[in-house]
Amino acid sequence: MDLMDDTLVPEHARDIKQEAREFAEEHIEPNAEEYHRSGEYPWEILEAGMDANLIAQDISEEYGGRGLDLPQVLAIAEEFYRADAGIALTLQLASFGAGIMEEHGTEEQCEEYLRPVAENDQITGLAVSEPETGSDLAGMTTSAEKDGDEWVLNGEKYWVGNGVEADWVTLYAKTGDDPDNRYGNYSMFIVPTDTEGYEAEHIPEKMGMRASKQAHIVLDDARIPEENLIGVEGGGFYMLADFFNHGRIVVGGHGLGLAAAAIEEAWEFAHGRNAFGRTINEFQSVQHILADMRLEFESARALNWRAAEKVENNDHGGFWASMAKVKSTEVANDCAERGMQLHGGRSVLLENKISRVYRDVRIPVIYEGANEIQRNLIYRQAPN
Ligand SMILES: Cc1cc2nc3c(=O)[nH]c(=O)nc-3n(C[C@H](O)[C@H](O)[C@H](O)COP(=O)(O)OP(=O)(O)OC[C@H]3O[C@@H](n4cnc5c(N)ncnc54)[C@H](O)[C@@H]3O)c2cc1C
Repeated sequence: MDLMDDTLVPEHARDIKQEAREFAEEHIEPNAEEYHRSGEYPWEILEAGMDANLIAQDISEEYGGRGLDLPQVLAIAEEFYRADAGIALTLQLASFGAGIMEEHGTEEQCEEYLRPVAENDQITGLAVSEPETGSDLAGMTTSAEKDGDEWVLNGEKYWVGNGVEADWVTLYAKTGDDPDNRYGNYSMFIVPTDTEGYEAEHIPEKMGMRASKQAHIVLDDARIPEENLIGVEGGGFYMLADFFNHGRIVVGGHGLGLAAAAIEEAWEFAHGRNAFGRTINEFQSVQHILADMRLEFESARALNWRAAEKVENNDHGGFWASMAKVKSTEVANDCAERGMQLHGGRSVLLENKISRVYRDVRIPVIYEGANEIQRNLIYRQAPN
């Protein structure tokens, strides 16, 4: 069964999709269970991905990457997440947030910070969420105050992928206090993780995507040079909103990969498990469950790829990106839930992939903006 054939994928993204599939089969899938159990950071697989030229390659050729575009990154996401979401998240996070610098940073910043990430000498991360605030981007309290030719950072960030492992992070902080311009109060900064006053530790163990690591960062009078501001002061929220339009298409791909994995597992199990003298796929109610899974998966995937094209063409990108994210990640939840039920008691055995998928699907409905927030955006940004 090949649920993720490439007929929906634009021609220029098919080769990279094939590369990602072969890499996932060789390096991700066979190691997934072990990393899920240990919860360790999959350095070896990350390095293999770097050798295969599949990590951080969304960065342009000008700065040493392959210049992969949105459909190409989506194609990789589908394949990696189908194999294992925890490892996939680590592989895709190595350049998370770097697109903001590429879009808004100076040439000097890109040379100094972006190039080493594209060349796989460094990894990075995006620090937005805080312990007390995740959804309300205009409610974040981490501050950056100007002091001479430096910015002084104070506050806390939470959930930051690679916050411990990264060489530097793109950090979102409050630089203004205008109550009439809530969204104009934030800016983006480059923060090297060896800055004095930057302390990061891993958050407690997670139930899903255990092969990815997130950090709790404490900034205590952390000083960075004034030239570490990205773009214009006060532009942080808008940079982030634009960046997330791309990211949410890719998170839709996380959902699609997970949904495909759930369907594949359920299909195979249902065709091999016997009950009442026949394999369970012979029961019509089971056939309907499998049919519904396929129906929902194909609907989500068609929407997700259509939305990718809309975002690429700047055609109501925010609306389409949120729709894709919600639909694909929720279909993944539905498929995992049904896949579990079809597995009966065996669903809860750790050695069965469906149990891992069931845990992992809980995460993409939350990250990159919880689906409730996406529904707010869909309504607000709907073309009419
Ligand atoms: C594994 C993982 C990796 C992550 N990686 C990163 C990362 O690399 N960098 C980073 O910055 N962040 C990261 N995040 C954080 C993620 O983006 C936030 O968890 C998410 O935005 C939700 O924020 P919150 O957890 O604070 O939930 P809250 O904002 O507290 O929301 C709690 C609940 O209230 C609902 N809610 C809140 N406001 C509204 C509203 N206006 N209308 C309706 N419902 C509402 C939410 O939908 C949710 O159901 C990661 C999270 C996870 C789980």
